[in-house]
Amino acid sequence: MLFGGLLLAALAGAVVASRERSGAAASAATVARNQQLELIARIGSLLQQSLSLGDLLPVFVVEVSDELALHGIGISLIADSGEFVRVFALGTSANEILPDAAALVPPPLAVEPGALVTVPLQRVGRVVGAFQGRATAGLTEAQIDTLLAVCAQLAAAIGNVRLYQDEQEMVARLRDLDHMKTKFVGSVSHELRTSVTAIEGFASLLQGDAEIDPARREDYMERIRRNARSLGLLIEDLLDFARFELSGVTGALRPTDLSDLVPNVVDQMSSVLANRTVSTIVEPNLVGIADALAVERILVNLLSNAAKYTPADSTVTVGLERDGDAAVLTVADNGPGIPAAERERIFDLFYRSDSSSVSARGVGIGLSLARQLVAHLKGTITVDEAPDGGARFRVMIPLAEELNPSPRVPETEQARPRAGG
Ligand code: ADP
Repeated sequence: MLFGGLLLAALAGAVVASRERSGAAASAATVARNQQLELIARIGSLLQQSLSLGDLLPVFVVEVSDELALHGIGISLIADSGEFVRVFALGTSANEILPDAAALVPPPLAVEPGALVTVPLQRVGRVVGAFQGRATAGLTEAQIDTLLAVCAQLAAAIGNVRLYQDEQEMVARLRDLDHMKTKFVGSVSHELRTSVTAIEGFASLLQGDAEIDPARREDYMERIRRNARSLGLLIEDLLDFARFELSGVTGALRPTDLSDLVPNVVDQMSSVLANRTVSTIVEPNLVGIADALAVERILVNLLSNAAKYTPADSTVTVGLERDGDAAVLTVADNGPGIPAAERERIFDLFYRSDSSSVSARGVGIGLSLARQLVAHLKGTITVDEAPDGGARFRVMIPLAEELNPSPRVPETEQARPRAGG
């Protein structure tokens, strides 16, 4: 009886102790869970406080490393090239090599003390980066759940930062475009007005003075012709520009004798290149797969620029030679040249360098048109510095291979030098 009573008491005691233990364990788990929920809520609000990764990443890393006892933390993002780029690191062992984005998997259910944890940062099903850190004391399943939750918040914040940056870039591009259009309308009106006023002015001088001496008459006539020509070139550029904007470039590509075409265009431009020494060195029998009108427009634009941007007594050299499967058309001058920083931008629509805007008339269409035409020919156009410091434009035009079977012809034998002005 006594024994039975003791047993019952012992059993009751054991049940109470076990209840207390499980109650204590339950409350420890609840405390831990609450702390993790608090971490998720805190990080959620911290990540909303800025749209700059420079602000967000340090705050995120400090919070997460404290709360989950992680060290050697690194955050990497996927660059345009598709490779991971480390954008933030805290601690010395953070330089772990990341696998390919496609091979990244979420961490296991529990992590041993000192082990490296890697969490892919995913946005709408796509890996945008990775979080890595060493778990000083290991991680429980619940802690890993928390880490996954905060990393999802970080991935969303990174997405927002990128959207914001894209939006800012778009606003800046639209602002630039708007500015360029205003500048363009201004310069077109100015160009038209200048030429028309000059033509009207010299025509009335001619009309009003019957006794005018022949030299002066010839000078006025020449000024009228020059202004009419630049008006004509401007109108052609504007029409081409409007045409390409509406329907793209459409001229058919067919075998075109470039060795014949290039000197002809140079001849047509002789009045524009007046007072310049022009030398043309053309390798014979180069037949490109091209559109003759497009080649002509490209060369006319390059030559009229060579005339516009160089002083009256300069030298312009036009070359055409074979380089592998392509013909290379060069137009070089010994004018002021184009600063390296502007060599890409001059092909942008409406772009004019500040110094040229002062020294020469133009609206910034010619080289942009030339680039579109060259793309239509499946070629390339670049500019560098000519040996004597001026600008040297190089246009590569694919050759019609079957029509150019002969190996490269030595230039000294075949080149056809021409001089004009
Ligand atoms: P535009 O001549 O109407 O300004 P382009 O598109 O033909 O327009 O040229 C863009 C800019 O490139 C020019 O404003 C000028 O700054 C520069 N440029 C073009 N050709 C030359 C050249 N031969 N020498 C120096 N600068 C040039």
